[in-house]
Amino acid sequence: MAISTLPLFIGGKAVFSSSGETFTNYRPMDGAVDREISLAGPDDVELAISVAQNAQEEWATVPGIERGRILLAAARIMRDRRQEIAEIETLDTGKPISETPYADVDSAIDALEFFGGIAMDMKGDFHDLGNGSMAYSIREPLGVCAGIGAWNYPLQIATWKSAPALAAGNAMIFKPSELTPLNAYTLAEIYREAGLPDGLFNVVQGMGQVGAILASHPGIDKLTFTGSVPTGKRVLEAAASTVKHTTMELGGKSPLIIFEDADLDNAVAAAMNANFYSQGEVCSNGTRVFVHASIRDMFLEKLVERTEKMVIGDPMAEETHVGALISEDHGEKVLSYVELGVQQGATLITGGERVEVPDMEGGFYMSPAVFAGCEDHMRICQEEIFGPVMSVLTFQDEKEVIKRANNTEFGLAAGLFTKDLARAHRVVRKLQAGSCWVNNYNLTPAGVPFGGSKQSGIGRENCARTLDHFSEIKSVYVELGDVESSY
Ligand code: NAD
Repeated sequence: MAISTLPLFIGGKAVFSSSGETFTNYRPMDGAVDREISLAGPDDVELAISVAQNAQEEWATVPGIERGRILLAAARIMRDRRQEIAEIETLDTGKPISETPYADVDSAIDALEFFGGIAMDMKGDFHDLGNGSMAYSIREPLGVCAGIGAWNYPLQIATWKSAPALAAGNAMIFKPSELTPLNAYTLAEIYREAGLPDGLFNVVQGMGQVGAILASHPGIDKLTFTGSVPTGKRVLEAAASTVKHTTMELGGKSPLIIFEDADLDNAVAAAMNANFYSQGEVCSNGTRVFVHASIRDMFLEKLVERTEKMVIGDPMAEETHVGALISEDHGEKVLSYVELGVQQGATLITGGERVEVPDMEGGFYMSPAVFAGCEDHMRICQEEIFGPVMSVLTFQDEKEVIKRANNTEFGLAAGLFTKDLARAHRVVRKLQAGSCWVNNYNLTPAGVPFGGSKQSGIGRENCARTLDHFSEIKSVYVELGDVESSY
């Protein structure tokens, strides 16, 4: 992608916006200008919708096995370009290169393979109604779907949305976050090379206004959104104007519960993954870590020792564990939460400071922060910070911790550590969360549903049922006898 202005991708080709306007993309690692990005306007969105509508009519008639084959071909191309794509993702997000080949590119490849494999399995039901009559149902694609993405997992989000949409026979118009526009374009190139007909995957770039056009447009049949709860609410309102199908993948403030019999080393490792992976910019992070009072001191000691060994630095360096936050503004917001935690009486036991990385002056780096002595009412324990800030709370018994864990408007995820499996399953049944991990955290293998309950979202991604969210049922009643007349 050695081009100075990144175009939009509409109708199978690179196009520049009709207005000629652009916006600037910055590299989180050092704040330098990366390139200009073509800024879509209403005309470009109209064009994308109309080419998508035309292409989708034909695509809906293609057998699932053939649709799947194209996704599998895309997976192969992505695997061949894995390292290059991971580097683009690191450049665009500031996340370390030790993560992006695995958590980003492999996860996208898995989605292409998973939905490629099940595309042929879109099927309905059969009902025997007696006397030879019957009814059956058909799963039909919805039409043109719009995907709107967040900036923390740009490629994964674009693929988790487009692969099931295309597998189910839809077209997609994808708008990545304005902060991470690059790999949606790479994905479009890959789909084209894999043989996806023109017009089925389109990329429009821009800020919230571009998303807002898609959200309310009558030509969009389904909206799948990943982002924060406040934006999600606005998007849902806009989608209501045309009663669109929606999937909402929103924010969280998830609990991670460490019982007194937990394997402490594993629990510490998971708490670190659950808070510091991708600089803590992960929606499902377990940022409220409830530790049984009897093991608190041991837990904190091990946690601090390991956290202080984390390498903060150049995201392109293999040895880096903590890269750059997405932007200066976001970094300032995260640090303001650290200040707030101290003001509200929590004890900052390590980290929470801005770090200067040599030759990366314009990037925003910080040391992973651990707060002890936290209480449920503190804002650092209630609000999504979306940075490397862990709040450790203590508890005495199971009933109490379940109640406190659930005491939030969010319901994205939860985790627990215990060797007592009866307790593990008992507690899981009571946790209000879309994903629960027992003795691990934040794993999202293809095929396992992912999504939120409560205000964390609507719908599930990454699983066979996702195809249901990208299709609808048509019921067909077939009469083989005479019509019984009521008159
Ligand atoms: P955001 O809500 O600010 O923006 C998300 C997207 O919405 C962006 O593409 C943005 O341009 C667009 N947008 C903004 N205003 C809009 C409007 N009025 N209409 C339509 N689109 C609009 O979120 P963010 O800062 O990019 O991402 C961080 C958030 O995403 C966090 O809350 C995080 O938890 C959440 N997230 C959730 C998941 C999940 O799967 N549940 C995954 C990743 C991130």
